[in-house]
Amino acid sequence: MRRSRDIMEKVGYFMQPQHLSVNDGQGIRTLIFLAGCPLRCKWCANPEGFTATEKKDLVYKMSVEEILSEIDKQRIFYRQSGGGVTFSGGEATVQDDMLRTLSKILYDEGLHLSIETSGYFDFEQVRDILEMMDTIFMDIKLMDSEWHRLFTGQGNELILENVKKVAALGKELIIRVPVIEGVNASEWEMLEIIRYVKEHVPSPKMEFLPYHTFGNYKYEKLDLSIDDYDFKTPSQEYMLLFKNKAISEGVSLVSYR
Ligand code: SF4
Repeated sequence: MRRSRDIMEKVGYFMQPQHLSVNDGQGIRTLIFLAGCPLRCKWCANPEGFTATEKKDLVYKMSVEEILSEIDKQRIFYRQSGGGVTFSGGEATVQDDMLRTLSKILYDEGLHLSIETSGYFDFEQVRDILEMMDTIFMDIKLMDSEWHRLFTGQGNELILENVKKVAALGKELIIRVPVIEGVNASEWEMLEIIRYVKEHVPSPKMEFLPYHTFGNYKYEKLDLSIDDYDFKTPSQEYMLLFKNKAISEGVSLVSYR
């Protein structure tokens, strides 16, 4: 397919693409991380993606052409595994023009597309992008808006409304919950989230992700302080308890980990 120079030279801000991922959708995938995020989760593992700006060795200015050439290297794996491309972040919809351009090119080529999103976006502004996705992973972190604001910098009303709107698109929708002791790892909090999903998502599917500290080294590198919260990874017993709660409420579980 012929693509105009203008499109191929368009630039955006990206973290290093991750190839051969099996954790973020079906088959073998390439993860494209777009920088920029309206939230500031206290536990964020990708703080380099807070803003859509270049950061030495962490966030790069890349053109559509460069991103497509990264994707091209892996095409053989997508075909053989039923995989494709997953857009992640940051919050991928912040650079909506770039995300739209890449999605449109890959959609027209018939690639399997997924997005991981915080759900914090203007739905009408990105509806066309979401409609090109095969699978949408969307987070719910907390049901109480004030707690949500305390831990992420924003209330959760927009996210909860967007869950309903995205569900109505009829795409495969997987609600992800980062499970964090000190934030949301209680039976009643999980039950509230599970029941919201059950009420508003037809054929509900969820994935529970235990908190990890793999990104902590980046705070030092970026000269950012880590708030002194006592977050912990939940025990396997707790994770099992929450998963069983979801199943007993009629929610299907997915796990790509
Ligand atoms: S939504 Fe994701 S990328 Fe944004 S601050 Fe929260 S954890 Fe980090």
